[in-house]
Amino acid sequence: MDKKVVGLLGGGQLGRMFVEAANRLNIQVNILDAAKSPAKQISSHEGHFEGSFKDPEAIEKLSKTCDVVTVEIEHVDTQILEKISSRVAVEPSWKTIRMIQDKYAQKEHLQEYNVATAQSIPLAGATNEDLQKVGEQIGFPFMLKSRTEAYDGRGNFPVKSSTDFDAALKALGSRPLYAEKWANFKAELAVMVVKTKDGVLAYPTVETIHEDSICKLVYAPARNVSKKVLEQAQELAKKAVACFWGKGVFGVEMFLLDDDSLLINEIAPRPHNSGHYTIEACPVSQYDAHLRSILDIPIQQHELRIREPSIMLNILGASTPDSAVQIAERSIAAGVGASIHLYGKGDARPGRKMGHMTLTAPSMREAEKAMQPLLDITDEIRG
Ligand code: ATP
Ligand code: MG
Ligand code: MG
Repeated sequence: MDKKVVGLLGGGQLGRMFVEAANRLNIQVNILDAAKSPAKQISSHEGHFEGSFKDPEAIEKLSKTCDVVTVEIEHVDTQILEKISSRVAVEPSWKTIRMIQDKYAQKEHLQEYNVATAQSIPLAGATNEDLQKVGEQIGFPFMLKSRTEAYDGRGNFPVKSSTDFDAALKALGSRPLYAEKWANFKAELAVMVVKTKDGVLAYPTVETIHEDSICKLVYAPARNVSKKVLEQAQELAKKAVACFWGKGVFGVEMFLLDDDSLLINEIAPRPHNSGHYTIEACPVSQYDAHLRSILDIPIQQHELRIREPSIMLNILGASTPDSAVQIAERSIAAGVGASIHLYGKGDARPGRKMGHMTLTAPSMREAEKAMQPLLDITDEIRG
């Protein structure tokens, strides 16, 4: 079991939780990122590399020390991944990462495979006139989005009318853009999909609540959604991930519209915030599943079930540097049995993902009741 070595691009919180899973199987993970990054803090061996996970030379060096290279972030250099893939496994495939890191190309690809997504229009060097044309085509409001380097909504601008054009272009004008038809969703759903050498498996459908475009809460399974829709969401997510190449876990974000139809919002080719709950709620977590799939360690669909309803609450930074620690300390003191995760990212900043907590209970009602004091603490500290 401990013979294979994994190379990891990025040592943030997703990498850290991936290392926790690898440590339990005594599998070495060589990380390329800054010294003392969250994942490196919990992994003591001589195989790490210090530097940027975007640096081609460093990626090449890392690849010479491992059996498979994987990522905790999609914003990496896929040219070098393509080059090294002739000698070392890259999972998921560089082709998948390249396609997904351009959100417009990702959507075009899904549409070619008849996977429903919000209507999208590419915009090269957008002007006010271009935005006016787009508004006439797909209606107002629409979402102006950066094609690349987007996360936590940083790269999105809702355009309500022509009076927003200047502000939208000021915010995003220097980036490659596309416009997306507004999705009037009644809920946001997500499914973690596991792509193995044999096919695709899915975790249950969860509900995600975003505030200011940042994920705040995850309810697993999704509340107030029919069994039929929960299953349709799993099927859609599997179909979407099956269009891509390579192995690993994928986070699939979806919009549930008023008529119960589903649209894919976007796909992440890696572990995902909406899958943190799996650590406590499922026999095999998303991190275990990622490790198993990229190393061809067996994994079964029934191992991805939810044992007990669960809720995950992100610990987002507030204005003071110790705000996340304060949230964690007071949440522990509340004594409701939540599993608290702090990522070791240093000082908190407003909206920065600093940690999360997960509660499981025999029913969603009980989980909601237990979560309420933690929500109150969080809202009080975040203001
Ligand atoms: P992530 O951190 O998930 O990678 P991101 O920066 O890539 O986020 P998106 O997932 O595109 O951003 O959008 C963030 C949120 O903004 C969505 O979860 C949703 O709440 C809202 N949103 C995005 N696209 C649309 C749309 N077309 N219509 C309505 N709301 C949208
Ligand atoms: Mg995204
Ligand atoms: Mg998203």
